[in-house]
Amino acid sequence: MNKLRNSVILATLTFVPLIINIILHKRYQRLRKALKCREKFYYNVIFTDMRTFDCKQHLIHRKECGNLCSYVQLQKILHFVASAKVSICVCMYMLTLKQFSNELIKAHKRGIKIRVILDLVMSKTEASQFNITEFIQHDIPHKYQTSEHSMMHHKFCLIDKEDSSLAKMFFGSLNLTSQALVSNFDSIVLTNNSNIIQRYGEEFEELWSCF
Ligand SMILES: [Zn+2]
Repeated sequence: MNKLRNSVILATLTFVPLIINIILHKRYQRLRKALKCREKFYYNVIFTDMRTFDCKQHLIHRKECGNLCSYVQLQKILHFVASAKVSICVCMYMLTLKQFSNELIKAHKRGIKIRVILDLVMSKTEASQFNITEFIQHDIPHKYQTSEHSMMHHKFCLIDKEDSSLAKMFFGSLNLTSQALVSNFDSIVLTNNSNIIQRYGEEFEELWSCF
């Protein structure tokens, strides 16, 4: 009887710490993975509002009046796009900012693959004509949704989505217009989160093949 009891005690003393050790090790690995993931991804949020109404002139004359200045916010977006090494996929309800289309044309000339999806109705407005004409002249592929009964209301831009080490994007409520930058209450998130980029990338390809 004593022999059996000793065997049970011995087994308990041997296996219980082993099982606890395995559980703790797995938890440690999960935590490490989560922390590594958090370090790898960055998020930058840009907010715009009507306090920067006077910044309309700063966009034109390339002057900045502080950290919240619309010109500073625009520069952040343009630098993001200018860093493209492989491709730029734009899906934008309204795109009238000449500075943005100029950046796309510069990238196109560097050999970056550019694709632009715009809203069919908004692309016919007078404010859009400069950019549309530029896209046609520089042979930049651009498409619209097939029916005017629905809006192509997305606002996102994917950079280098084909290369996980370079991929990044911005998305949010901001249209690429000077009015949105200086007088609307809007926001965009700039990130390199691969899960978000993959999902938006799939959606872009889906739309590109449909339109
Ligand atoms: Zn300003």
